[in-house]
Amino acid sequence: MKAIPTKYGGVDFRSRLEADWAAHLDRLSIDWQYEVEGYQLSDGSWYLPDFYLPDIQVWLEVKGAHNQRVSKVEQLAADLWAESPVDLPTLYGAPMVLIAQPPQRVAPGVIDEWRAYVHGVRGPGKGYSVTIDQCAHCNKVVFVALWGKDCRACGKYNDFLMEGAWTELAQLEFTRAPRTV
Ligand SMILES: [Zn+2]
Repeated sequence: MKAIPTKYGGVDFRSRLEADWAAHLDRLSIDWQYEVEGYQLSDGSWYLPDFYLPDIQVWLEVKGAHNQRVSKVEQLAADLWAESPVDLPTLYGAPMVLIAQPPQRVAPGVIDEWRAYVHGVRGPGKGYSVTIDQCAHCNKVVFVALWGKDCRACGKYNDFLMEGAWTELAQLEFTRAPRTV
């Protein structure tokens, strides 16, 4: 199945789902860069992540229902992990690689409410849960991993909710880019 190229915010996206994620990141007030830098992975292959979120040092790969590129995402996570002096994804300064899952219904029977899912990847087979919250110090909206308490934007301690908690921001209806075609 071929993806439909979609323009959003002056950027040409390869697919509607990528443009939708850009719109959703805008809704969350998270700055994003699209396909800004490629990497040669330790297995010799090349990988160009969909998004880099510069304020919070997050790489974000949008996963469609039929997208099988997850192995490259896992390899990037493992490679960054090997290079990083910081040991845990919960900590400020540690690289964070996320897979953005297709939006799903909030609950059975609820048709028009969709929730965007993100999933952290530490390396092959080593995922962790991620939620979205706002820093009480710098007011940036950040992805929070596991029992992370450090804001990824400013590094300050927060009373972020525990793993898997559905914050208000994490429960926002998935924002879609306007359809022009
Ligand atoms: Zn902060």
